[in-house]
Amino acid sequence: MVKARLALIPYPNSVEYTGGSIPAVSIDPEGASVTLCGLQDFAEDTAAEAYILHIGAEEIKIIAPQKIGVFYAKQTLQQLREAGGDVPCCKIFDQPRFAHRGFMLDVARHMTTIENTKKLIDALARMKMNVLHWHLTDDQGWRVPVEKYPRLIEVGSVRARSHFGQQKVDEPYGGFYTHDELREIVAYASARHITVIPELDIPGHMTCAIAAYPQFSCTEEQLEVGDHEGVYEDILCVGKDEVMQFVYDVLDAFCDIFPGEYFHIGGDEAPKKRWKACPHCQQRMKDNDLQNEEQLQGWFNKQVAAHLAQRGKKTVVWNEALKSGQMGDEVIAQSWFDPGRHAIRFANRGHAVIMSDNGSNYLDYPYGRIPLKKIYKYNPFRFGLTRKGRQSVLGVEAPSWAEYMRDFDRVCYMTFPRLCAVAENGWTRKKNYKDFRARAEQFVPQLVALGIYPALPGIWDPSPKTRAQETIDQAKGLYHTAMMMRHDEA
Ligand SMILES: [Zn+2]
Repeated sequence: MVKARLALIPYPNSVEYTGGSIPAVSIDPEGASVTLCGLQDFAEDTAAEAYILHIGAEEIKIIAPQKIGVFYAKQTLQQLREAGGDVPCCKIFDQPRFAHRGFMLDVARHMTTIENTKKLIDALARMKMNVLHWHLTDDQGWRVPVEKYPRLIEVGSVRARSHFGQQKVDEPYGGFYTHDELREIVAYASARHITVIPELDIPGHMTCAIAAYPQFSCTEEQLEVGDHEGVYEDILCVGKDEVMQFVYDVLDAFCDIFPGEYFHIGGDEAPKKRWKACPHCQQRMKDNDLQNEEQLQGWFNKQVAAHLAQRGKKTVVWNEALKSGQMGDEVIAQSWFDPGRHAIRFANRGHAVIMSDNGSNYLDYPYGRIPLKKIYKYNPFRFGLTRKGRQSVLGVEAPSWAEYMRDFDRVCYMTFPRLCAVAENGWTRKKNYKDFRARAEQFVPQLVALGIYPALPGIWDPSPKTRAQETIDQAKGLYHTAMMMRHDEA
């Protein structure tokens, strides 16, 4: 039988052609017959998300163990319908390679409106992704009201200016989401089988909270909300009991809004300079027999993870939070930049990790640094992972940091189609770049119909010269300015 390819992203794991074809316009995802089956027909780890789909001339049948599989079968049908033409009759037997297929949206540096966030969620759902990691606080802005601490919004949600790299805007920037809006997003995502993982980045990246409550830092110096990129030296003083209480109160407030199983507490880029000089932090170390400041962060992580466990949550941390060497199953690690290979060793000990290596997954990096082909060829089974370590890889996630992304057009331009590659990395076992690229081009009109405008195909895989130039420009903080100009011209 002639091998036809289906216009699908991500590509299904098994397709058997049964002969003949039907016109795409005749496909009605909601009109398919649905039968629920047991989990036993599928490989264990992601069986709950599996589905079988029969596309026949007479009938379309979905068989799946759970509602989520039915939902994914319907996404497959929706994509085939929208791609148009004729669809070959076939039997699809499908389940994801990884359980965690995520996208991280940074709204601390620049916000994405609720309406536009829904468009992103629609795209995630269409591509069978199941996690929206929402980076809600950072040095440059606090976006979630907490009743006990009103100054987090009054002071912490607005910065006086935005000086990111070569982009300098000398006017205030701020905003926040109401609890109703946050819950609206959680519900919208949940209806599409997407979990929202909120991130409260602690103890570093807290300049906005310290600007609102200077007593929460070691020096108690009055700071401004962050106005530039990079790593800030002032972090939460974890030697003070009132700071621990603040953290627990905020965690509780977030837990009331976000019902999901996972909670991200950041833990990245927390310089220890202030802790070394702080009597409260040094006392905390003495009281708990801690040898150094990394262990103090380990102690802090453990307190926070225990608090979240009481609320029924699993705690996720960036790989730096593993440096204390004390973390175990109380956390899941997200690996982004890990020269010390802490996340690899952590996984090899059997603890869960999410792979987000910045050199292959950061959607805010220029296409010249991470072309579509590079992100597609990313192997989450990093060098050094043992068999046990590989089994500990929960999945893949692509972060999109927003220092340089001032509006939704730019988020879309940087994110798509590279996120399509991430979706396929998370789902499809046998991959082929040439074939994927063709399918990605076919997929563009579907994104546009969702209100998302991807980068033009000419940008996806830049020439070696452009790659070199954009990599240098990025290092100099120039890239985003040049990119904006090209983008505005297009
Ligand atoms: Zn301190």
